[in-house]
Amino acid sequence: MKIEMEKIVSLCKRRGFIFQNSEIYGGLGNTWDYGPLGVGLKKNVKEAWWKNIVYEREDMEGLDSAILMHPNTWLASGHVESFTDPLVDCKKCKKRFREDDLDKHICPECGGELTDPRQFNLMFKTFVGPVENEASTVYLRPETAQGIFINFFNILTSMRRKIPFGIAQIGKAFRNEITPGNFVFRTREFEQMEIEYFVKPGTDKEWHDYWVNERLEWYKKYGIKQENLRLREHGKDEMAHYAKSCFDIEYLFPMGWSELEGIANRTDFDLKQHTNYSNRNLIYFDEETKEKYFPYVIEPSAGVDRSSLAFLIDAYKEEDVRGRKRVFLSFHPDIAPVKVAVLPLLRNRGDIVELSKKIKKDILNQYVTVYDDTGSIGRLYRRQDEIGTPYCITVDVQSLEDRAVTIRERDSMQQDRISIDQISQYLKDKFSLLH
Ligand code: ATP
Repeated sequence: MKIEMEKIVSLCKRRGFIFQNSEIYGGLGNTWDYGPLGVGLKKNVKEAWWKNIVYEREDMEGLDSAILMHPNTWLASGHVESFTDPLVDCKKCKKRFREDDLDKHICPECGGELTDPRQFNLMFKTFVGPVENEASTVYLRPETAQGIFINFFNILTSMRRKIPFGIAQIGKAFRNEITPGNFVFRTREFEQMEIEYFVKPGTDKEWHDYWVNERLEWYKKYGIKQENLRLREHGKDEMAHYAKSCFDIEYLFPMGWSELEGIANRTDFDLKQHTNYSNRNLIYFDEETKEKYFPYVIEPSAGVDRSSLAFLIDAYKEEDVRGRKRVFLSFHPDIAPVKVAVLPLLRNRGDIVELSKKIKKDILNQYVTVYDDTGSIGRLYRRQDEIGTPYCITVDVQSLEDRAVTIRERDSMQQDRISIDQISQYLKDKFSLLH
């Protein structure tokens, strides 16, 4: 099923996933706020990543480095010099474009003549302290990766690590994109989930293949359909200045195949550069072979916002149920922001309401659970379907006598009658992440 982005944007707004930022002031372009459901979705995506990358492995350490870093970091990394996009302006309608987005050197909007390209640095600049001058300039990090490189030695020594091992980090990054757009696909402020995996030179190709496969499997495990994922190898001309080879995992977004995650072989570029620019030698000494070398680095670099969007789009379903359209999000249970909804069949019956609230309270400390009695049962189910809640528990008159409830599964709409004492056990088999 082909889904238009407008449908996703509208559902996200209606159901509290994502709102236009600063809407009451007319909005700040291409800037979005994650509402109650969106923050839950994003948190689950990050947790699923962290669990898979850090907790379930023995060769990975986590890190949370600062957004602001010493400005020399960006001289060493090459970002001051080359983190640029070629910018062109239309002389007639004054619109701006990334030259590499255009097929021909004319304005795609009005056919007007374009200026020659200027290199535009994508890093946001700011100043530390009260004086706004060159000496106090710092940048908002355009990637989390450099925070990992500058901590390589701290982690190597404090955690007594040996090559191969990796460092993982989730955090905000900022890029002054010339052409942001497509909802949260490309924004100026976004979150990344990055791994720098340090390996012995010569084993880098093998590790690169390994990580491409691991990351593809992760998207599939959490619900993205195989046919909506593909791998694309970068041509030599589009590779970043540091990379030896790079694969993009692409997703079939409504606007076409686009990058979800980049997995690059960064060689020993970064550690060598930081050795040259700092007063630390970041060379690695292998105790066993007595060799010294700069490790090569494989970097799987994913976007939290882009993957949350892909999970949303892939989960979006419409079907016809007895002549009525049903919209639901078939999220993997671990990704779903709300896991269980407890719904009383009759909201005017005090005893049913009381029992429902008690059930909700009992499971709330295990799973994100909501209670809702603001409509008829049909309407309540529709609401939960649209936010992708995997299980709805309905309490009815009979529940008061037989101490049993109906559990409805979102995708199949199949209903099971189970005893109230069995709810916890029933749900335990369905989720692997808590909350
Ligand atoms: P693109 O070619 O789309 O500009 P990129 O190749 O510059 O992306 P990377 O530097 O490889 O992107 O960044 C790694 C990941 O960070 C991307 O795969 C994406 O998921 C995320 N990302 C990068 N830029 C943005 C952005 N402006 N908005 C949202 N996510 C982003």
